Amino acid sequence: MTKPSNGDGLDQIGDWSIDKLEILKAYSEQYALILQSQTTTKGNAQFHYGYIDGFAGATTLPGTKSLITFSKSIASHVGKKILSEPIGAWSHPAVISANNFVYKSLSNWSLNIAVGCGHGCRFCYVPSSSTNKQAEALSRYGVNNPDAEWGKYVLLRPWDENKFRASLRAAENMPASELNPDGNRAVMLCTTTDPYQVFHHSDPGRAKALTQQALDLVHRALVLIRDESTLNVRIMTRSPLARQHFELFKSFGPRLLFGMSLPTLRNDLAKVYEPQAPAPSSRLATLQRARDIGLNVYVAMAPTYPECDDADLRQTLEAIKATEPVTIFHEPINIRADNVERIAEQGRRLGIPLRTEVFTTRESWRDYSLNSLKSVIRITQELEISQRLHLWPDKKLGARWVIDSMSKPAEYRRWLEKKWARISEWPKN
Ligand code: SF4
Repeated sequence: MTKPSNGDGLDQIGDWSIDKLEILKAYSEQYALILQSQTTTKGNAQFHYGYIDGFAGATTLPGTKSLITFSKSIASHVGKKILSEPIGAWSHPAVISANNFVYKSLSNWSLNIAVGCGHGCRFCYVPSSSTNKQAEALSRYGVNNPDAEWGKYVLLRPWDENKFRASLRAAENMPASELNPDGNRAVMLCTTTDPYQVFHHSDPGRAKALTQQALDLVHRALVLIRDESTLNVRIMTRSPLARQHFELFKSFGPRLLFGMSLPTLRNDLAKVYEPQAPAPSSRLATLQRARDIGLNVYVAMAPTYPECDDADLRQTLEAIKATEPVTIFHEPINIRADNVERIAEQGRRLGIPLRTEVFTTRESWRDYSLNSLKSVIRITQELEISQRLHLWPDKKLGARWVIDSMSKPAEYRRWLEKKWARISEWPKN
Protein backbone atom coordinates (compact mmCIF):
# COMPACT_ATOMS: atom_id res chain seq x y z
CA MET A 1 0.00 0.00 0.00
CA THR A 2 1.45 3.40 -0.96
CA LYS A 3 0.96 6.04 1.66
CA PRO A 4 0.38 9.52 0.15
CA SER A 5 1.42 12.58 2.06
CA ASN A 6 0.95 16.29 1.57
CA GLY A 7 4.42 16.94 2.88
CA ASP A 8 3.72 17.99 6.46
CA GLY A 9 2.98 14.55 7.78
CA LEU A 10 -0.72 14.76 7.06
CA ASP A 11 -2.35 12.45 4.61
CA GLN A 12 -5.19 13.61 2.45
CA ILE A 13 -8.52 12.41 3.71
CA GLY A 14 -10.70 15.25 2.48
CA ASP A 15 -13.10 17.68 4.08
CA TRP A 16 -15.21 16.56 6.96
CA SER A 17 -18.69 15.20 6.35
CA ILE A 18 -20.94 12.76 8.15
CA ASP A 19 -20.90 10.34 5.24
CA LYS A 20 -17.17 10.43 4.94
CA LEU A 21 -16.73 9.99 8.66
CA GLU A 22 -18.91 6.91 8.60
CA ILE A 23 -16.82 5.41 5.83
CA LEU A 24 -13.62 6.30 7.63
CA LYS A 25 -14.92 4.80 10.84
CA ALA A 26 -15.72 1.59 9.06
CA TYR A 27 -12.30 1.40 7.49
CA SER A 28 -10.53 2.48 10.63
CA GLU A 29 -12.11 -0.39 12.54
CA GLN A 30 -10.56 -2.77 10.09
CA TYR A 31 -7.24 -0.98 9.91
CA ALA A 32 -6.87 0.33 13.42
CA LEU A 33 -3.57 -1.42 13.97
CA ILE A 34 -2.15 0.19 10.88
CA LEU A 35 -3.52 3.52 11.98
CA GLN A 36 -1.99 3.17 15.40
CA SER A 37 1.42 2.34 14.07
CA GLN A 38 1.24 5.36 11.82
CA THR A 39 0.35 7.87 14.50
CA THR A 40 2.40 11.08 14.37
CA THR A 41 3.17 13.48 17.16
CA LYS A 42 2.16 16.64 15.33
CA GLY A 43 -0.26 18.86 17.28
CA ASN A 44 -3.28 17.29 18.94
CA ALA A 45 -4.21 15.05 16.07
CA GLN A 46 -3.76 11.43 17.00
CA PHE A 47 -4.45 9.96 13.59
CA HIS A 48 -2.80 12.09 11.03
CA TYR A 49 -2.65 9.24 8.62
CA GLY A 50 -6.07 8.97 7.13
CA TYR A 51 -4.96 6.95 4.15
CA ILE A 52 -6.93 3.78 4.46
CA ASP A 53 -6.85 1.31 1.65
CA GLY A 54 -9.27 2.08 -1.20
CA PHE A 55 -10.47 5.29 0.37
CA ALA A 56 -7.49 7.17 -1.02
CA GLY A 57 -9.25 7.38 -4.34
CA ALA A 58 -11.77 9.81 -2.90
CA THR A 59 -9.30 12.25 -1.37
CA THR A 60 -9.22 16.00 -1.78
CA LEU A 61 -7.29 18.54 0.35
CA PRO A 62 -7.25 17.60 4.01
CA GLY A 63 -7.13 20.62 6.30
CA THR A 64 -5.74 19.98 9.76
CA LYS A 65 -9.12 20.70 11.38
CA SER A 66 -10.85 17.95 9.52
CA LEU A 67 -8.09 15.56 10.43
CA ILE A 68 -8.39 16.40 14.08
CA THR A 69 -12.15 15.92 13.94
CA PHE A 70 -11.62 12.62 12.27
CA SER A 71 -9.00 11.53 14.74
CA LYS A 72 -11.12 12.39 17.77
CA SER A 73 -14.11 10.65 16.35
CA ILE A 74 -12.34 7.41 15.77
CA ALA A 75 -10.10 7.58 18.80
CA SER A 76 -12.73 5.86 20.91
CA HIS A 77 -12.79 2.93 18.52
CA VAL A 78 -9.09 2.34 18.25
CA GLY A 79 -7.51 0.67 21.20
CA LYS A 80 -10.80 -0.84 22.36
CA LYS A 81 -11.02 -3.11 19.40
CA ILE A 82 -8.48 -5.73 18.50
CA LEU A 83 -8.74 -5.88 14.78
CA SER A 84 -7.64 -7.91 11.83
CA GLU A 85 -8.34 -11.18 13.60
CA PRO A 86 -11.10 -13.64 12.80
CA ILE A 87 -12.84 -13.48 16.20
CA GLY A 88 -13.70 -9.87 16.82
CA ALA A 89 -15.56 -6.91 15.43
CA TRP A 90 -16.99 -6.40 11.95
CA SER A 91 -17.16 -2.99 10.31
CA HIS A 92 -20.86 -2.66 9.47
CA PRO A 93 -23.60 -2.37 12.07
CA ALA A 94 -26.43 -4.81 12.71
CA VAL A 95 -29.59 -3.72 10.90
CA ILE A 96 -32.85 -5.30 9.81
CA SER A 97 -32.79 -6.22 6.15
CA ALA A 98 -35.10 -8.06 3.76
CA ASN A 99 -34.14 -11.71 3.41
CA ASN A 100 -34.01 -13.84 0.32
CA PHE A 101 -35.71 -16.97 1.57
CA VAL A 102 -37.45 -19.10 -0.99
CA TYR A 103 -39.97 -21.75 0.14
CA LYS A 104 -38.97 -21.50 3.81
CA SER A 105 -41.83 -19.48 5.35
CA LEU A 106 -39.61 -18.28 8.17
CA SER A 107 -39.63 -14.48 7.99
CA ASN A 108 -39.66 -11.39 5.79
CA TRP A 109 -36.58 -9.84 7.37
CA SER A 110 -33.34 -10.88 9.01
CA LEU A 111 -31.30 -9.37 11.78
CA ASN A 112 -27.83 -10.88 11.74
CA ILE A 113 -25.55 -9.96 14.58
CA ALA A 114 -22.30 -11.28 13.11
CA VAL A 115 -20.47 -12.40 10.00
CA GLY A 116 -19.54 -16.04 10.52
CA CYS A 117 -20.77 -18.43 13.19
CA GLY A 118 -18.89 -20.05 16.03
CA HIS A 119 -21.06 -23.16 15.91
CA GLY A 120 -19.42 -24.11 12.63
CA CYS A 121 -21.97 -26.74 11.60
CA ARG A 122 -20.37 -28.86 8.87
CA PHE A 123 -23.43 -28.86 6.60
CA CYS A 124 -24.15 -25.12 6.98
CA TYR A 125 -25.33 -23.38 3.80
CA VAL A 126 -24.36 -19.89 4.96
CA PRO A 127 -20.80 -19.83 3.53
CA SER A 128 -22.11 -20.70 0.07
CA SER A 129 -25.06 -18.32 0.19
CA SER A 130 -23.60 -15.44 2.14
CA THR A 131 -20.06 -15.22 3.51
CA ASN A 132 -18.37 -16.36 0.29
CA LYS A 133 -19.58 -13.05 -1.13
CA GLN A 134 -17.60 -11.27 1.60
CA ALA A 135 -14.36 -13.07 0.79
CA GLU A 136 -12.39 -9.92 0.09
CA ALA A 137 -13.46 -8.16 3.28
CA LEU A 138 -12.89 -11.33 5.29
CA SER A 139 -9.36 -11.66 3.96
CA ARG A 140 -8.51 -8.53 5.97
CA TYR A 141 -9.36 -10.52 9.09
CA GLY A 142 -7.05 -13.34 8.13
CA VAL A 143 -9.76 -15.52 6.59
CA ASN A 144 -8.42 -16.98 3.36
CA ASN A 145 -11.26 -19.35 2.48
CA PRO A 146 -14.66 -18.47 4.01
CA ASP A 147 -16.08 -21.90 3.13
CA ALA A 148 -13.23 -24.15 4.29
CA GLU A 149 -12.67 -22.03 7.41
CA TRP A 150 -16.35 -21.96 8.36
CA GLY A 151 -16.68 -21.96 12.15
CA LYS A 152 -13.30 -20.33 12.69
CA TYR A 153 -14.38 -16.74 12.23
CA VAL A 154 -17.09 -14.73 13.97
CA LEU A 155 -17.12 -10.98 13.56
CA LEU A 156 -19.67 -9.21 15.68
CA ARG A 157 -21.47 -6.33 14.04
CA PRO A 158 -21.29 -3.05 15.96
CA TRP A 159 -24.42 -1.42 17.38
CA ASP A 160 -25.56 1.82 15.82
CA GLU A 161 -28.90 2.76 17.30
CA ASN A 162 -29.75 5.36 14.65
CA LYS A 163 -29.09 2.97 11.81
CA PHE A 164 -30.96 0.16 13.52
CA ARG A 165 -33.97 2.40 14.16
CA ALA A 166 -33.97 3.56 10.54
CA SER A 167 -34.01 -0.06 9.34
CA LEU A 168 -36.77 -0.90 11.84
CA ARG A 169 -38.91 2.01 10.59
CA ALA A 170 -38.37 0.94 6.98
CA ALA A 171 -39.53 -2.59 7.79
CA GLU A 172 -42.48 -1.40 9.87
CA ASN A 173 -43.67 0.92 7.11
CA MET A 174 -43.36 -1.64 4.33
CA PRO A 175 -46.88 -2.09 2.86
CA ALA A 176 -48.32 -5.56 3.38
CA SER A 177 -48.91 -5.76 -0.37
CA GLU A 178 -45.14 -5.77 -0.90
CA LEU A 179 -44.49 -8.58 1.56
CA ASN A 180 -44.48 -12.28 0.90
CA PRO A 181 -47.30 -13.57 3.18
CA ASP A 182 -45.22 -16.64 4.00
CA GLY A 183 -42.89 -14.45 6.08
CA ASN A 184 -45.61 -13.75 8.68
CA ARG A 185 -44.32 -10.15 8.89
CA ALA A 186 -41.51 -11.43 11.09
CA VAL A 187 -37.91 -10.48 11.67
CA MET A 188 -35.71 -13.52 12.18
CA LEU A 189 -32.72 -13.61 14.53
CA CYS A 190 -30.68 -14.86 12.89
CA THR A 191 -30.46 -16.30 9.38
CA THR A 192 -26.71 -16.37 8.75
CA THR A 193 -25.36 -16.85 12.25
CA ASP A 194 -26.58 -17.88 15.71
CA PRO A 195 -27.93 -15.03 17.89
CA TYR A 196 -26.88 -16.79 21.10
CA GLN A 197 -23.33 -18.00 20.77
CA VAL A 198 -20.28 -17.98 22.96
CA PHE A 199 -17.33 -16.19 21.39
CA HIS A 200 -14.23 -18.35 21.75
CA HIS A 201 -11.19 -16.09 21.85
CA SER A 202 -7.69 -16.95 23.11
CA ASP A 203 -8.00 -14.01 25.52
CA PRO A 204 -10.71 -14.99 28.05
CA GLY A 205 -11.45 -11.34 28.82
CA ARG A 206 -12.01 -10.59 25.18
CA ALA A 207 -14.16 -13.71 24.78
CA LYS A 208 -16.34 -12.67 27.69
CA ALA A 209 -16.64 -9.09 26.44
CA LEU A 210 -17.65 -10.17 22.92
CA THR A 211 -20.19 -12.68 24.21
CA GLN A 212 -21.74 -10.05 26.47
CA GLN A 213 -21.67 -7.43 23.71
CA ALA A 214 -23.59 -9.82 21.45
CA LEU A 215 -26.18 -10.49 24.16
CA ASP A 216 -26.57 -6.76 24.79
CA LEU A 217 -26.99 -6.13 21.08
CA VAL A 218 -29.73 -8.74 20.76
CA HIS A 219 -31.46 -7.46 23.89
CA ARG A 220 -31.48 -3.83 22.75
CA ALA A 221 -32.64 -4.76 19.26
CA LEU A 222 -35.51 -6.83 20.65
CA VAL A 223 -36.62 -4.07 23.02
CA LEU A 224 -36.74 -1.61 20.12
CA ILE A 225 -38.62 -4.05 17.88
CA ARG A 226 -41.12 -4.69 20.66
CA ASP A 227 -41.65 -1.05 21.62
CA GLU A 228 -41.29 0.79 18.32
CA SER A 229 -42.90 -1.57 15.84
CA THR A 230 -45.67 -4.08 15.35
CA LEU A 231 -43.39 -6.64 13.71
CA ASN A 232 -43.25 -10.27 14.75
CA VAL A 233 -40.00 -11.93 15.81
CA ARG A 234 -38.71 -15.42 15.11
CA ILE A 235 -35.74 -16.55 17.20
CA MET A 236 -33.69 -19.45 15.84
CA THR A 237 -30.79 -20.80 17.85
CA ARG A 238 -28.88 -23.88 18.89
CA SER A 239 -27.83 -22.39 22.22
CA PRO A 240 -29.26 -22.53 25.74
CA LEU A 241 -27.76 -19.06 26.25
CA ALA A 242 -31.12 -17.86 24.94
CA ARG A 243 -32.59 -18.64 28.36
CA GLN A 244 -31.13 -15.33 29.53
CA HIS A 245 -33.75 -13.55 27.41
CA PHE A 246 -36.78 -15.73 28.12
CA GLU A 247 -38.52 -13.03 30.16
CA LEU A 248 -37.98 -10.55 27.35
CA PHE A 249 -39.36 -13.10 24.86
CA LYS A 250 -42.41 -13.50 27.07
CA SER A 251 -43.11 -9.78 27.00
CA PHE A 252 -43.77 -10.06 23.23
CA GLY A 253 -46.77 -12.35 23.78
CA PRO A 254 -47.87 -13.96 20.49
CA ARG A 255 -45.58 -11.68 18.50
CA LEU A 256 -42.56 -13.92 19.19
CA LEU A 257 -41.80 -17.52 18.30
CA PHE A 258 -38.83 -19.16 19.94
CA GLY A 259 -37.25 -22.03 18.04
CA MET A 260 -34.28 -24.33 18.15
CA SER A 261 -32.64 -26.59 15.60
CA LEU A 262 -32.86 -30.17 16.74
CA PRO A 263 -32.07 -32.65 13.95
CA THR A 264 -31.31 -35.57 16.27
CA LEU A 265 -31.06 -36.44 19.93
CA ARG A 266 -27.83 -38.35 19.31
CA ASN A 267 -25.00 -36.34 20.83
CA ASP A 268 -22.43 -38.53 19.02
CA LEU A 269 -23.83 -37.58 15.60
CA ALA A 270 -24.12 -33.93 16.59
CA LYS A 271 -20.42 -34.00 17.49
CA VAL A 272 -19.68 -34.79 13.86
CA TYR A 273 -22.14 -32.52 12.16
CA GLU A 274 -22.36 -29.62 14.62
CA PRO A 275 -19.07 -29.96 16.52
CA GLN A 276 -19.05 -26.57 18.22
CA ALA A 277 -22.77 -26.24 18.97
CA PRO A 278 -24.32 -27.13 22.35
CA ALA A 279 -25.42 -30.76 22.68
CA PRO A 280 -28.92 -31.77 21.53
CA SER A 281 -29.82 -32.79 25.08
CA SER A 282 -29.24 -29.24 26.34
CA ARG A 283 -31.23 -27.84 23.42
CA LEU A 284 -34.16 -30.10 24.20
CA ALA A 285 -34.05 -29.04 27.86
CA THR A 286 -34.08 -25.39 26.71
CA LEU A 287 -37.09 -25.99 24.48
CA GLN A 288 -38.91 -27.74 27.31
CA ARG A 289 -38.18 -24.83 29.63
CA ALA A 290 -39.45 -22.37 27.01
CA ARG A 291 -42.66 -24.37 26.68
CA ASP A 292 -43.02 -24.60 30.49
CA ILE A 293 -42.90 -20.83 30.95
CA GLY A 294 -45.49 -20.32 28.22
CA LEU A 295 -43.42 -19.30 25.20
CA ASN A 296 -44.66 -20.26 21.76
CA VAL A 297 -42.03 -22.63 20.41
CA TYR A 298 -41.21 -24.22 17.09
CA VAL A 299 -38.52 -26.70 16.08
CA ALA A 300 -36.34 -26.96 13.01
CA MET A 301 -35.52 -30.64 12.64
CA ALA A 302 -33.02 -29.53 10.11
CA PRO A 303 -31.12 -30.94 8.59
CA THR A 304 -31.47 -34.61 9.47
CA TYR A 305 -28.39 -36.64 8.58
CA PRO A 306 -28.03 -39.75 6.40
CA GLU A 307 -27.29 -41.67 9.63
CA CYS A 308 -30.63 -40.68 11.18
CA ASP A 309 -32.57 -43.93 10.84
CA ASP A 310 -36.24 -44.49 11.61
CA ALA A 311 -35.59 -45.17 15.29
CA ASP A 312 -33.64 -41.95 15.66
CA LEU A 313 -36.19 -39.87 13.73
CA ARG A 314 -39.00 -41.31 15.84
CA GLN A 315 -37.21 -40.66 19.12
CA THR A 316 -36.46 -37.08 18.10
CA LEU A 317 -40.02 -36.44 16.93
CA GLU A 318 -41.48 -37.89 20.13
CA ALA A 319 -39.33 -35.50 22.16
CA ILE A 320 -40.31 -32.62 19.88
CA LYS A 321 -44.00 -33.47 20.23
CA ALA A 322 -43.70 -33.12 24.00
CA THR A 323 -42.63 -29.47 23.58
CA GLU A 324 -45.94 -28.75 21.80
CA PRO A 325 -44.39 -26.81 18.94
CA VAL A 326 -46.40 -24.50 16.72
CA THR A 327 -44.50 -25.80 13.67
CA ILE A 328 -41.97 -28.56 13.00
CA PHE A 329 -39.77 -27.71 10.03
CA HIS A 330 -37.84 -30.52 8.40
CA GLU A 331 -35.28 -30.99 5.67
CA PRO A 332 -32.43 -33.39 4.91
CA ILE A 333 -28.94 -32.14 4.00
CA ASN A 334 -28.75 -30.26 0.73
CA ILE A 335 -25.50 -30.10 -1.20
CA ARG A 336 -24.01 -26.60 -1.22
CA ALA A 337 -20.48 -25.57 -2.21
CA ASP A 338 -17.99 -27.52 -0.04
CA ASN A 339 -20.34 -28.67 2.72
CA VAL A 340 -20.07 -32.38 1.84
CA GLU A 341 -16.28 -32.18 1.98
CA ARG A 342 -16.48 -30.41 5.34
CA ILE A 343 -18.70 -33.24 6.66
CA ALA A 344 -16.43 -35.97 5.27
CA GLU A 345 -13.33 -34.33 6.70
CA GLN A 346 -14.87 -34.13 10.17
CA GLY A 347 -15.83 -37.82 9.99
CA ARG A 348 -12.27 -38.73 9.00
CA ARG A 349 -10.81 -36.60 11.77
CA LEU A 350 -12.99 -38.27 14.40
CA GLY A 351 -12.58 -41.72 12.85
CA ILE A 352 -16.35 -42.08 12.48
CA PRO A 353 -17.63 -43.74 9.30
CA LEU A 354 -20.36 -41.64 7.69
CA ARG A 355 -22.82 -42.38 4.92
CA THR A 356 -21.35 -39.72 2.63
CA GLU A 357 -22.01 -41.99 -0.36
CA VAL A 358 -25.53 -40.54 -0.45
CA PHE A 359 -24.00 -37.32 -1.74
CA THR A 360 -21.93 -39.00 -4.46
CA THR A 361 -24.40 -38.81 -7.34
CA ARG A 362 -27.48 -36.71 -7.97
CA GLU A 363 -29.59 -39.89 -7.94
CA SER A 364 -28.25 -41.08 -4.58
CA TRP A 365 -28.86 -37.64 -3.07
CA ARG A 366 -32.40 -37.57 -4.53
CA ASP A 367 -33.16 -40.95 -2.94
CA TYR A 368 -31.73 -39.98 0.46
CA SER A 369 -33.56 -36.67 0.39
CA LEU A 370 -36.97 -38.00 -0.61
CA ASN A 371 -36.70 -41.01 1.71
CA SER A 372 -35.94 -38.71 4.66
CA LEU A 373 -38.92 -36.51 3.85
CA LYS A 374 -41.20 -39.54 3.48
CA SER A 375 -40.00 -41.10 6.74
CA VAL A 376 -40.70 -37.91 8.65
CA ILE A 377 -44.17 -37.61 7.07
CA ARG A 378 -44.98 -41.19 8.06
CA ILE A 379 -43.70 -40.88 11.64
CA THR A 380 -45.47 -37.55 12.25
CA GLN A 381 -48.70 -39.16 11.02
CA GLU A 382 -48.20 -42.03 13.44
CA LEU A 383 -47.53 -39.56 16.25
CA GLU A 384 -50.52 -37.43 15.17
CA ILE A 385 -48.48 -34.28 14.70
CA SER A 386 -48.43 -34.20 10.90
CA GLN A 387 -50.63 -31.07 10.84
CA ARG A 388 -47.72 -29.14 12.28
CA LEU A 389 -45.14 -30.53 9.90
CA HIS A 390 -43.67 -28.06 7.44
CA LEU A 391 -41.34 -29.73 4.95
CA TRP A 392 -38.60 -27.91 3.09
CA PRO A 393 -37.97 -29.99 -0.05
CA ASP A 394 -34.96 -28.48 -1.80
CA LYS A 395 -35.63 -26.66 -5.06
CA LYS A 396 -33.29 -29.15 -6.76
CA LEU A 397 -35.96 -31.77 -6.17
CA GLY A 398 -38.03 -29.82 -8.69
CA ALA A 399 -35.44 -30.25 -11.46
CA ARG A 400 -36.76 -31.66 -14.72
CA TRP A 401 -34.75 -34.85 -14.42
CA VAL A 402 -36.11 -35.57 -10.92
CA ILE A 403 -39.71 -34.99 -11.99
CA ASP A 404 -39.20 -37.18 -15.07
CA SER A 405 -37.76 -39.95 -12.91
CA MET A 406 -40.99 -40.25 -10.89
CA SER A 407 -43.66 -42.86 -11.66
CA LYS A 408 -46.32 -40.12 -11.42
CA PRO A 409 -44.52 -36.91 -12.44
CA ALA A 410 -47.55 -34.57 -12.38
CA GLU A 411 -48.64 -35.80 -8.97
CA TYR A 412 -45.08 -35.43 -7.62
CA ARG A 413 -44.83 -31.89 -8.98
CA ARG A 414 -48.14 -30.93 -7.34
CA TRP A 415 -46.91 -32.40 -4.04
CA LEU A 416 -43.71 -30.34 -4.23
CA GLU A 417 -45.54 -27.14 -5.09
CA LYS A 418 -47.93 -27.64 -2.22
CA LYS A 419 -45.02 -27.99 0.20
CA TRP A 420 -43.28 -24.94 -1.22
CA ALA A 421 -46.46 -22.83 -0.96
CA ARG A 422 -47.24 -23.73 2.65
CA ILE A 423 -47.40 -20.78 5.05
CA SER A 424 -46.12 -21.66 8.48
CA GLU A 425 -48.28 -21.13 11.55
CA TRP A 426 -48.21 -18.02 13.70
CA PRO A 427 -49.99 -18.00 17.07
CA LYS A 428 -53.08 -15.79 17.36
CA ASN A 429 -52.85 -15.00 21.05
S1 SF4 B 1 -25.77 -22.49 13.98
FE1 SF4 B 1 -26.80 -22.08 12.03
S2 SF4 B 1 -25.61 -20.44 11.07
FE2 SF4 B 1 -24.37 -21.31 12.71
S3 SF4 B 1 -23.12 -22.83 11.69
FE3 SF4 B 1 -24.91 -23.90 12.48
S4 SF4 B 1 -26.38 -23.91 10.78
FE4 SF4 B 1 -24.81 -22.37 10.30
